[in-house]
Amino acid sequence: MKIIIKNTEELEIMRKAGEILRTTQEELKAQIKAGISLLELDALAEKTIRKFKAEPSFKGYKGFPGTLCTMLNSEVVHGIPDERKIKEGDLLSVDCGVKFNGFHADAAFSVIVGGDEKNPARAEFSNIVREALLAGCRAAKVGNRTGDIGSAIEKVIVKNGYSICREYTGHGLGRELHEDPHLFNYGPGGQGERLVAGMTLAIEPIVASGSGKVKTLSDGWTVVTVDGRDACQWEHCGVVTVNGLEIFA
Ligand code: MG
Ligand code: MG
Repeated sequence: MKIIIKNTEELEIMRKAGEILRTTQEELKAQIKAGISLLELDALAEKTIRKFKAEPSFKGYKGFPGTLCTMLNSEVVHGIPDERKIKEGDLLSVDCGVKFNGFHADAAFSVIVGGDEKNPARAEFSNIVREALLAGCRAAKVGNRTGDIGSAIEKVIVKNGYSICREYTGHGLGRELHEDPHLFNYGPGGQGERLVAGMTLAIEPIVASGSGKVKTLSDGWTVVTVDGRDACQWEHCGVVTVNGLEIFA
């Protein structure tokens, strides 16, 4: 375990990477509507990132072909953007990484295509996963431990009857997209690494509305739920402070 604490200058670069990523997310949200393809969204994200003299973190990472990971409905993680067009009522999770001046930002959001009223049950699911993420961010404060983040996330998910996909974790990030520590999305609290100021983390609950059992498709990347029920991801990255995670994106 080697946790790399960032100095003031490094944090400033990471804030900027986060700003580019947030701008990219806003551009995407403006274009997410029925009929657009996942590949078109991917191209838009890459164009936006490069406009800021930044690079997509995921493209080429272990051979991944996309700028985005796009997950529709029962897809859990690592979805490759393809020709499929999104439809009203789809639950779409979009994960994106930006590398700027040597440092990464990593964040994900989910939407109901066409608006929450197109599928209120999916909207409720997505809202709960986001609520769990925010509980995890609040727990990411100086003096707590990594297990407190996972415990905070798990409480919100379990209370609402959903399942954490336990194989996937949050992580540290900085010069590398994935650094120590691993951040499990479940407890117990009070265990794991002690959180200190300057620790940069990506917190990312990955949650299923059904059993949480998953399998990888034959493309070698896309992970789906075994029972075909929905999955949803939200992710923020930022720095540990006395008040919780200062969110970069
Ligand atoms: Mg991510
Ligand atoms: Mg991540």
